[in-house]
Amino acid sequence: MSIAVPNDSATVLEKTPLERYVPPAKPSLVGLSRGALAQALGEIGVPERERRMRAQQLWHWLYVRGAQSFDVMTSVSKELRARLDEHFTLARPEVVAEQISVDGTRKWLLRLPGETPGERPHEVECVYIPDTDRGTLCLSSQVGCTLTCSFCHTGTQRLVRNLTPGEIVGQIMVARDRLGEWLSVRAPGEAGAAADNPRLVSNIVMMGMGEPLYNLDAVRDALLVASDNEGLAISRRRITLSTSGVVPNIVRAGEEIGVMLAVSLHAVRDDLRDELVPLNRKYPIKDLLDACRNYPGLSNARRITFEYVMLKGVNDSLADAKALVRLLKGIPAKINLIPFNPWPGTRYECSDWEQIEKFSEVVFNAGYASPVRTPRGRDILAACGQLKSATEKLSARERLALRAMAMTD
Ligand code: SAH
Ligand code: SF4
Repeated sequence: MSIAVPNDSATVLEKTPLERYVPPAKPSLVGLSRGALAQALGEIGVPERERRMRAQQLWHWLYVRGAQSFDVMTSVSKELRARLDEHFTLARPEVVAEQISVDGTRKWLLRLPGETPGERPHEVECVYIPDTDRGTLCLSSQVGCTLTCSFCHTGTQRLVRNLTPGEIVGQIMVARDRLGEWLSVRAPGEAGAAADNPRLVSNIVMMGMGEPLYNLDAVRDALLVASDNEGLAISRRRITLSTSGVVPNIVRAGEEIGVMLAVSLHAVRDDLRDELVPLNRKYPIKDLLDACRNYPGLSNARRITFEYVMLKGVNDSLADAKALVRLLKGIPAKINLIPFNPWPGTRYECSDWEQIEKFSEVVFNAGYASPVRTPRGRDILAACGQLKSATEKLSARERLALRAMAMTD
């Protein structure tokens, strides 16, 4: 790896050549729950009566201290540390490129092993978006996506595999490692404790590559680790899961994870939504909204965010805007208008700025606060949803877009 500092003052960690990739030989403990840690300890011969206590120690070193080697685990006996090291690692997904923009946005390209030995490794991206009152991490849940939304670049990617809980939690670990945040996660009163050192990664959005509700078990396990108070401690209220509308899993997500929900609506009529989000043919708008109404914990304080990508001449008429507010009537909702971010070969264009403003006015007049969060006259935006494996730098408009997407509350 080499660090190059180009003239535009963005810092770039250049992509590591593929030939140097070596898949991990031992399993990593990163991402494991307390129960799974106890089981791993059992596998290396730790007696049953000790497992809970030892798992608790490992948990603390992993998720509070951010330990990257067993050596630093001073509360664990030398003998056990050596045994752990023989069988496991604390490896995070391998960072093969990092880009840091002038505004602080960071993008990491991560390399993950293929599913079968000898298969080429996969790549996913993870983006950190700092803002005045928060720092949001946009996580991927799959390599590629099995769905084929017509405006989304990820949907054109052929390779698909689910990420493991470790690979999802690993993205948070990578961010905290790179931001040097572990130091700020100290016991109250200790130098550098959270009170005088605000959280860098305070929010999570599952809006990177993939459909999280088609990898529900792993996403659930990962988010339960992420939201555990005694570990990474990112509150469920600060975690938003975005779905294209996998209806049977929406209520399950609410019950089993309890995070905030965002729904990629994008159209108010089934014929158009069938085209934009083909999953609509299986789960049409009415079924989707019924599932939303039944989302556990839904209230005015815990609204669902409806995402609506602005596609010129496709879904951006004022009649659409009026139909949108009619459709969502009675559901505690927020509306996020996302200017479309074009990609090479797409047949869509982003709506004109004036049209976005007019559309947003209808939405605003219906009682939804500032649906487009970009200052007037700014360039159009992108979305995390179209992150793809490439090493291009994020353009200014993409960075702004990520910021708009991340504003889910
Ligand atoms: N698969 C999930 C989550 C990832 S996509 C989902 O579809 O909700 C996150 C968001 O980015 C979704 O609302 C998605 O529709 C949107 N998106 C995808 N491609 C985009 C593009 N080119 N421009 C703007 N938004 C896009
Ligand atoms: Fe998959 Fe979401 Fe892209 Fe649709 S918008 S193809 S569900 S990542």
